[in-house]
Amino acid sequence: MKGNLLDIRSLKAFVKSSLFPAIIQWPTAFVFAVVVYQLLYGPMSAHENFGTAMTWVLWWPIIPLIFLLMGRFWCAICPFATLSDIVQKWVRNKRTVPVFLKKYGIWIIDAMFILITWADHVFGIVESPLGSGVLLMIIITGVIVSGAFFERRTWCRYLCFLGGLSGNYSRSGLLELRAKSENCKKCKDKYCYKGKDNVAGCPMFEMPGVMDSSAKCNLCGNCVKTCPNDSVVLTARIPSKELWYVRKPKIEESFLAIIIMGIVFVQNITMLELWEDAQKIIEGLTGTSSYTVTFTITFIIAMAVPVLAFYATSWLAGVSNREKAISNLTIFGYALIPLDLAGHLAHNLFHLLAEGKTVLHTGIALLVPGYKGGSPGFFPEATIQIMQFALIVLGLAASLFTAYKISKNWFGEAGKSTASLVPYAVLLILLAAFNIYLFTLPMSMRM
Ligand code: SF4
Ligand code: SF4
Repeated sequence: MKGNLLDIRSLKAFVKSSLFPAIIQWPTAFVFAVVVYQLLYGPMSAHENFGTAMTWVLWWPIIPLIFLLMGRFWCAICPFATLSDIVQKWVRNKRTVPVFLKKYGIWIIDAMFILITWADHVFGIVESPLGSGVLLMIIITGVIVSGAFFERRTWCRYLCFLGGLSGNYSRSGLLELRAKSENCKKCKDKYCYKGKDNVAGCPMFEMPGVMDSSAKCNLCGNCVKTCPNDSVVLTARIPSKELWYVRKPKIEESFLAIIIMGIVFVQNITMLELWEDAQKIIEGLTGTSSYTVTFTITFIIAMAVPVLAFYATSWLAGVSNREKAISNLTIFGYALIPLDLAGHLAHNLFHLLAEGKTVLHTGIALLVPGYKGGSPGFFPEATIQIMQFALIVLGLAASLFTAYKISKNWFGEAGKSTASLVPYAVLLILLAAFNIYLFTLPMSMRM
């Protein structure tokens, strides 16, 4: 097939070999073990802790970039997934996934994502190495329980808070794995799903022959290894293209896209110098100086504003296209994903480029006692700001084009495509402008 990256012989041989993805998976698991040890038993100051630097200055900032460039490949090598596989092999108790998880898993993921963001601010998880260590231990417990009871990577597909985010962002990603449907229709074996010899079936419960989204596929390569018909195809695509043609939109996925915008706002606002003044105003209004109360109020407002704005826009679009507000919200929510991704990347770029050297400094300090370190940043803040603006502009362009394609595909035939698009275009421009405004304000560092 044209553009099939698996036509590159060396790449195909590598993906088919037992080295893939183990050669990346096991070193990642080793580094993760060092990170967890450091968080739990290393220096209690975040500034000096290698685990904090690796988790919040390196891993968390680059993870959206990995989703953009390589889809969900992180999930193929993720230490939690590796642990789940180990537990599963050991316990051998492969029950089928409960129906309620299949039905409501993404809502559980949405709720966990909101809860973890809230808890991070209220309990200061990022600033506290021990807090981060405890968070990882809680997740590890969930992974062990899930691996001990349920088949395949139930945790990754139905429960992981990062899984929802990675699913949405991977739809915007550059890589796409599918299978030639003409072969799959005739195929009786379905080894891609069942597994063959020593290679497991798809860990993410997918059948590449009918897969129309990259949201779940982690590019683990198992189906490339097991397919007897050489059907699996890996291609590069225009980022965000998958979002133009979502055939069965789901409200929970659109809702996640909308609240991610709120979460990025919260992350930005609470790192701004004006956050202290805002807190004083909320304290004056509520009559309490409790940070939990002031933050929770801010958090609810930051979540509610994009949800209500999107709902109002969907209602407005419904005046012309005659759809209910909720179904417009479900259809057009996907258009927000590129701007979400750009906002997330732009926010994280600050941590990566203004504090990234702390990963080196804390790493050297582990090996060289008495090492004092140096400046944390790679670039001056003004340079980082220009990159942030550029990312938001790119994200806005991709979101606008996605909204245009969605309105054309859903309402073009009825001649209602432009009227459906205009309210969303205005909202996307306003959200991008607000993001840019936040990036013009001075931001505090994480470490
Ligand atoms: S990917 Fe291969 S094994 Fe799976 S259904 Fe298609 S032809 Fe069969
Ligand atoms: S579809 Fe193939 S590459 Fe994707 S997760 Fe399943 S087995 Fe792995």
